[in-house]
Amino acid sequence: MAKVSDRMLWIESEGRVQFSWQWTALPKWRTSPELLRLENQLSLFKCSGKSVDEWVWKLCGSGIYSTKSLIEFLNSTVVTHAEPTIRNNLLPQKVGILMWRASQNKLPVRSELDRRGIDLDSVRCPVCNDDIESTNHTFIHCKTASDIWDRIFKWWNLNSTVFADITELTKGSNSQINTTTGISIWQAIVWVTSYYIWKNRNDHVFNKSRLCNAKIVSEIQIKSFEWISSKLKYGCLDWHNWLANPRKFDANPPSKEGIG
Ligand SMILES: [Zn+2]
Repeated sequence: MAKVSDRMLWIESEGRVQFSWQWTALPKWRTSPELLRLENQLSLFKCSGKSVDEWVWKLCGSGIYSTKSLIEFLNSTVVTHAEPTIRNNLLPQKVGILMWRASQNKLPVRSELDRRGIDLDSVRCPVCNDDIESTNHTFIHCKTASDIWDRIFKWWNLNSTVFADITELTKGSNSQINTTTGISIWQAIVWVTSYYIWKNRNDHVFNKSRLCNAKIVSEIQIKSFEWISSKLKYGCLDWHNWLANPRKFDANPPSKEGIG
């Protein structure tokens, strides 16, 4: 591995540094002006080349990394300002974490990566290429997501509606569902659907694979049945009813047991 001093040659006669980066891929977009700024800042810095390059952990006086110093730093800066987490007790924690990240605009959709200064070839939606990839687009307006939602509403015999934004989606309420159990289960369905929309997006980006929408909905039905029936304490869901009439709870609400 090259040392910084290998890339910075001090030109004694001119009293300045000459850079020799030896790129394998040339810097482009925003990186170019950032590199120029860095070169300007370093231009008068004389690197001896005698000492070994090393990492310095600035949070400790010793310059050596310690987990304790990192935890103290995170507790004093990040954790105290973090939004409270959310969860639906019928689902594994990972689904709640995804929804929390989505609601906080913390998922690495392309518009967010771009906003954070990461150079990308395109900020358009990798699934449909019709619009900028934002959180709202990915989960609500993308034509794949929109078609999946239509199928889910149809399965639940609900009027098809478009969520106003990711906050409303995360809330996962519906005026046609008003029993305690129904509300929890419908929110779980909205979250599992979002989970699969995000999974499909990532499969497309990273594995160049994707399922047809009907197959995705089928996976949502299977996985939500598996997760929810394992968490409901008052009895098992019936698979055939689940497919044919998942809102049976509305007509005959069980006790609140198991719903939190
Ligand atoms: Zn799209």
